[in-house]
Amino acid sequence: MKIHDLEFELFITAAQIHDKVQQLAAQIRQDYQSKTPLFLPILNGSFIFAADLIRAVNIPCRVSFVKHSSYTGTLSTGKLKTLIGLSESLFNQDIIIVEDIMDTGLTLSKVVDELRSLGTRSVEIVTLIRKEKARNHAVQPRYVGFDMDDEFVVGYGLDYEGFGRNLPDIYRKN
Ligand code: 5GP
Repeated sequence: MKIHDLEFELFITAAQIHDKVQQLAAQIRQDYQSKTPLFLPILNGSFIFAADLIRAVNIPCRVSFVKHSSYTGTLSTGKLKTLIGLSESLFNQDIIIVEDIMDTGLTLSKVVDELRSLGTRSVEIVTLIRKEKARNHAVQPRYVGFDMDDEFVVGYGLDYEGFGRNLPDIYRKN
């Protein structure tokens, strides 16, 4: 399938994503049954994953979207803007960062550092996808949906040059 100017092939189906989201939600529900977590989905890529996951977790919780983007095109620029969108106190909160995909891990380590400095009680990460090179990173998600090689993917919230976020399945670059 062509997205913008590149060819992509089907990689993870909507049904596989659905099953994985239910599994992740069940783990989180069990781990947080006596807590009231604050979910922090990182925009833009995690908006669809977060919407499905947080509904499936189905426990009392709060949600606040933040933004922290390092991507243009298909290669990480390595540059990060600061976290924007934090409107409430995170002091003593049990935070669950919701990430779409972990590539170098740079984004998440920056976010985790920033959140810890705000007096949070706990900070955990759920990522739908973790790429190969992220597996050796010091900061690791407690919950991982899919592990994959270092390839570029789109769909289910993830874009290529702004396109493809609305695709129900995930595609990888040919
Ligand atoms: P990191 O800081 O871990 O290198 O990059 C994480 C962010 O880069 C993700 O939240 C996502 O926005 C973007 N990203 C990383 N890999 C991919 C990919 O394969 N496809 C898309 N569309 N975005 C990616």
